[in-house]
Amino acid sequence: MDQPSLDALSQRIWKLNTGSKIHHFLWKCVNNALPAAANMKHIHITKDGRCMRCSMENETINHILFECPYARLVWALSPVHAPVDGIMSDSLYSNLWRVMSLQDRYPKEEAHADLVPWLLWRIWKNRNDFLFQGKDYAAQDAVNKALEDMKEWLERSEEEKKEGVGWVSRDYTGRMLWAGARRFQGVGSPIETEAIALQWAIQSMIRFGYKHVQFETDSLVLAKMINGKEETWPKLKPIIQEITHSLSTNRSYRVEYFSRDGNKTADRIAKEAFSFMNHVPKLYSVMPSWLIHVIEADMPSLGSNYDVGPNNVG
Ligand SMILES: [Zn+2]
Repeated sequence: MDQPSLDALSQRIWKLNTGSKIHHFLWKCVNNALPAAANMKHIHITKDGRCMRCSMENETINHILFECPYARLVWALSPVHAPVDGIMSDSLYSNLWRVMSLQDRYPKEEAHADLVPWLLWRIWKNRNDFLFQGKDYAAQDAVNKALEDMKEWLERSEEEKKEGVGWVSRDYTGRMLWAGARRFQGVGSPIETEAIALQWAIQSMIRFGYKHVQFETDSLVLAKMINGKEETWPKLKPIIQEITHSLSTNRSYRVEYFSRDGNKTADRIAKEAFSFMNHVPKLYSVMPSWLIHVIEADMPSLGSNYDVGPNNVG
């Protein structure tokens, strides 16, 4: 089983019960696309390929996540099963495969499979904090933080099973022009839902004949993928292609990132959408009473653009 296929590993990553930030991170891992020192040296961005923690030559992703003494200590302190012979493999794929298939191998025990992605993420994050900010967190703290992150995410994702999407379009004074709400269920990750809502908002604006529209999304990764600043995740390709196609035929349409705080209206609409009895999309041209307070509160934060904010219930 030692050398899994890249496909099998990728599929396993997408199936993990974890946040889209973590899916993205793991996807970069298997594609060797994280800026580990060895990778940076290989493309001549840096001359020094050493690990800054243990001075070992050739700091690969595998070194950071599994072989560095710091990583080994984190794994050892975690409740996750150690490799059978106690030795981490020198293959990143083998190591990833091992920690991601614990449930298959130890079906009778609690395998802590949900914790694994968060441990990997935390080890990588601590490596960056160490490197760029001189912060050195104890290995036990890394384990505790990963447990906390996992719990927090699991609680939040329970909430998000109740999915709805909403968007609102406003004129330059902040007055509502149109709003859309729709109940959604089981679409997939929050980022997919976000992309679907955005595409719906874009299509609606095209249909209503608006020429200049600025679309705001609270997903930074989504905005980057649409604007070609980040490689599109394979799973999102079809929907992102639809979006970029719509944008290319409407050249005064823009998609930008905007933090969720700035668009409470879309949030409120998405919440309302979840209370709908069916999945029929609803469009509003007159502001519904439940929206009046939020839309007024949102006004001062608006720039001089139309904006459409799709959103998931969060
Ligand atoms: Zn090291």
